[in-house]
Amino acid sequence: MTSWLDEDLTAFRELARSFCEKELTPNQERWSEAKQVDRELWTKAGEVGLLCLSIPEEYGGGGGTFAHETVLLQEQARALDDAWGVSVHNGIVAHYILNYGTEEQKRRWLPRMASGELVAAIAMTEPGTGSDLQSIKTKAIRTGDSYVVNGAKTFITNGAQAGLVIVAAKTNPGEKASGVSLVVVETEGAQGFRRGRVLDKIGMKGQDTAELFFDDVTIPAENLLGTQEGQGFIQLMQQLPQERLIIAVSAVAAMELAVQQTLQYTKEREAFGRPLFGFQNTKFTLAEAATEVEVSKAFLDQCITRHLRGELDVTGAAMAKMWTTERLGKVVDACLQLFGGYGYMNEYPIAKAWTSARVQRIFGGTTEIMKEIIARTL
Ligand SMILES: Cc1cc2nc3c(=O)[nH]c(=O)nc-3n(C[C@H](O)[C@H](O)[C@H](O)COP(=O)(O)OP(=O)(O)OC[C@H]3O[C@@H](n4cnc5c(N)ncnc54)[C@H](O)[C@@H]3O)c2cc1C
Repeated sequence: MTSWLDEDLTAFRELARSFCEKELTPNQERWSEAKQVDRELWTKAGEVGLLCLSIPEEYGGGGGTFAHETVLLQEQARALDDAWGVSVHNGIVAHYILNYGTEEQKRRWLPRMASGELVAAIAMTEPGTGSDLQSIKTKAIRTGDSYVVNGAKTFITNGAQAGLVIVAAKTNPGEKASGVSLVVVETEGAQGFRRGRVLDKIGMKGQDTAELFFDDVTIPAENLLGTQEGQGFIQLMQQLPQERLIIAVSAVAAMELAVQQTLQYTKEREAFGRPLFGFQNTKFTLAEAATEVEVSKAFLDQCITRHLRGELDVTGAAMAKMWTTERLGKVVDACLQLFGGYGYMNEYPIAKAWTSARVQRIFGGTTEIMKEIIARTL
């Protein structure tokens, strides 16, 4: 049992598990084809209290902690779902609003996110820049009581369904990091706001990943997140550790599941008159993989405990993201090999795990950027 688990979380796990098994698992194929989940999934999740889990009750949230978010992500992985962008909604966007929003902004947006009325996204990446966030071109220029937003964003999780988008934009285009602010665009009825394609990915096919365009979109000045311009880059740097820890949680859950599935398969499938598990290569491969899982879990648990105490720093989160996603890639690839040709068939969960794993080393900051961050403190 991990150190941060308690009875309350074990009871919550039951709720999360039954929701994920009932609402997520049966819909995977359909969502893959649609390149997004059903919009109603969000309202159903809101009704049972699975949205904004770690947001105080006074803003409509569940009043829980990051541990609740972790349990939901683990159960989502266990239900073989890689489509629902709940981690962005719950673990990322809601926390930007909670941490930097004015009282009025929190009351305006969080309860609607908690009910599922608003689906939330965060748009940092642009066609011309991802890792180098300081070089974004999207602008939000103040004119009187409004900001006018112009620019294009891509690869945005929940982009096709989002009713609320936190947009990273330059309020002072002459500056690099200090020119960046976060502004909130409520998409319904927003003149000049357009969604582009829902992108066709090699994995996570049911997850809504879209292009967004802003052509002279006018938003009220009070949609600046916080009260001061130029704080966006600092806000992003402060929140990215939680985003990276979320990715690490999903990576470890996926790794553990891949090993379990492969153990089961290799004990059932036979070749040369014995189960695949009878070959030394299979046993050694799985022994290594099981060890990778345990080591990753121990480190992840330590990072979660630190985060729950408010002590996880940028470097620790970068290490967790880099380590777990790199290990995931290695473990899932080795597991897939043990399935032989069946491992390459989409109907086998290991095939989906393999394609889903690939992006973990890219989004939320690439492995190379994690190394840059870690190296700065050495
Ligand atoms: C499925 C998916 C979902 C996503 N969801 C979101 C989202 O919700 N919101 C959002 O804003 N973005 C999202 N992204 C974007 C993601 O965060 C970026 O793709 C990622 O940060 C990398 O940026 P890039 O694609 O522009 O690559 P680039 O920055 O162009 O990098 C290309 C390569 O160069 C390397 N590189 C870049 N700089 C350096 C350096 N200094 N040193 C060494 N190597 C370097 C990178 O590591 C990478 O290997 C998503 C992406 C995907 C694929």
